Amino acid sequence: MIIRSKDLSSDVNEKVDVCVIGSGAGGAVMAKELSEGGHSVVVLEEGGYFTRKDFNQKALDMYAMMYRDFGFTVAIGMPSIPIPTGKCIGGTTTINSGTCFRVPDYILKSWQENYGLEDLTSEAMRPSFERVEKTINVTPVGLDIIGKNALVFKRGTEALGFKGAPIARNAKDCRGCGVCVFGCPTDAKQAMHLNYIPLSSQCGAKIYANCRAERILTEQKRVKGVEGLFLDQKTNKKTHKMKVEAKVVILTANAFYSPALLLRNKLANSSGQVGKNLHIHPATRVTALFDEEIEGWKGVPQSYYVDEYFEEGIMLEGIFVPPNYGSASLPSFGKQHKELMKDYRHIAAFGVMVSDTSRGRVRIDQRGRPLITYRMNRSDTRKMAKGVAITSEIFFAAGAKKVFPYLPGLPEISSKQEVDRIRERRPKATDFTMMGFHPMGTCRMGKNRKKSVVNSHCESHDVTNLFICDGSIFPSSLGVNPQLSIMAFATHAANYINANADRYFQ
Ligand SMILES: Cc1cc2nc3c(=O)[nH]c(=O)nc-3n(C[C@H](O)[C@H](O)[C@H](O)COP(=O)(O)OP(=O)(O)OC[C@H]3O[C@@H](n4cnc5c(N)ncnc54)[C@H](O)[C@@H]3O)c2cc1C
Ligand code: SF4
Repeated sequence: MIIRSKDLSSDVNEKVDVCVIGSGAGGAVMAKELSEGGHSVVVLEEGGYFTRKDFNQKALDMYAMMYRDFGFTVAIGMPSIPIPTGKCIGGTTTINSGTCFRVPDYILKSWQENYGLEDLTSEAMRPSFERVEKTINVTPVGLDIIGKNALVFKRGTEALGFKGAPIARNAKDCRGCGVCVFGCPTDAKQAMHLNYIPLSSQCGAKIYANCRAERILTEQKRVKGVEGLFLDQKTNKKTHKMKVEAKVVILTANAFYSPALLLRNKLANSSGQVGKNLHIHPATRVTALFDEEIEGWKGVPQSYYVDEYFEEGIMLEGIFVPPNYGSASLPSFGKQHKELMKDYRHIAAFGVMVSDTSRGRVRIDQRGRPLITYRMNRSDTRKMAKGVAITSEIFFAAGAKKVFPYLPGLPEISSKQEVDRIRERRPKATDFTMMGFHPMGTCRMGKNRKKSVVNSHCESHDVTNLFICDGSIFPSSLGVNPQLSIMAFATHAANYINANADRYFQ
């Protein structure tokens, strides 16, 4: 059952076992696994509830409807980096690309060594990954819908003898229409509003849309519930109050809003780590002009990856946006921009994503909203430059006429030899037009309560029965897109709560 603010005529009071804040990758999984475990669950989601009937594929409408701040969330720094997130039932999964990777084993090992997370071995996590993958139908993209943008890049990758493969995605009967980030109009992409949320409803969970959690209530360092406000979908004005009495509270508001809520409530921060250690997987794009027609908007936009330099922290992943929005997304100007748009049919594009060791931070402003800062360090800047050079090389190996690395003083290059001009530079972070799509780390997990916010079961070190289970818990960058790992860690934590129900629900 999904209840929206417009369905209500009075304030709401609930008394349940579990209150989940947020309905994205972490929250939806928690709601389903815990309600299936026999517990009464309510979910509070600040954003609205939308279905494929609402997904009109118009970028501006969809930004206004399902992206937080119209997609203009920015980490301030040199340069400032936009990091959009979702605000709707299903959270960012409703507007993401559907790419699914498991957290690499070597990352789990590094967490065992550096953060005392010995119990989180790949063996221990495997059943949770398998359960999620089955529920959301994770399968590699078929060649019929992979798109020419990917096929061209695959050609270049193979010509250079690099490693690459079609991406596994949470999709069923995908037609490759290319608008995943504006909500899938055919329900092919298996975002949370199509599986985990309805499954939790079937087990009795109540899902409240347009309901923003404001306060986490505690008594003697134990959670007691949550207070929130219902908001009008159109005006965002307060309509009613919400009060939930709950034995367990699960915070899954994402790596910006979970720390912000904790900081506002002055909770769970004896370590001083809440809001720190922000990683974002900074990403940039390289485009290329071919003689042949690419029509990159046809097919799955993110359908192929190259992990030849993965262990150096460089991942290349397909990226393409439809022409009506692509104009604004090309980092070119004036005459060059006009020429490129004329040739849009012949353009291919690929993304460079860096597994960052740089750290940002989430603080709160006077109104309690997240204030995000991020500074890219030299090592990550060099990785980004190397990623741009490799991507350019792959495009030339695939037969590109021109490649556009969009670097200051080097907007385009016309031959493989010129790729050395990228390598010879001393890159600066401000050279790149970047975005981030994967905020992580701001309530990090660890054994040492002085250095981390939650333990390996996602439970707060400080507040009994408070769990945090979203992208904020990862102690370092994953190097791969995080949604699947967030869902698997939520499954793992929910299993733990279910297995220890006597303790948590007494
Ligand atoms: C355009 C785009 C494409 C992406 N593509 C991929 C991809 O292909 N593969 C991948 O792995 N990752 C991708 N990601 C990232 C991925 O979707 C996110 O990392 C993941 O969904 C984060 O999960 P989460 O549980 O941390 O938070 P979210 O999924 O962001 O969910 C958090 C929810 O909490 C709600 N909330 C916040 N504060 C409150 C409050 N106070 N009260 C109530 N509710 C609140 C928010 O409105 C939101 O709905 C993409 C991201 C973007 C923006
Ligand atoms: S390519 Fe189209 S059909 Fe496939 S998941 Fe994306 S939006 Fe849905």
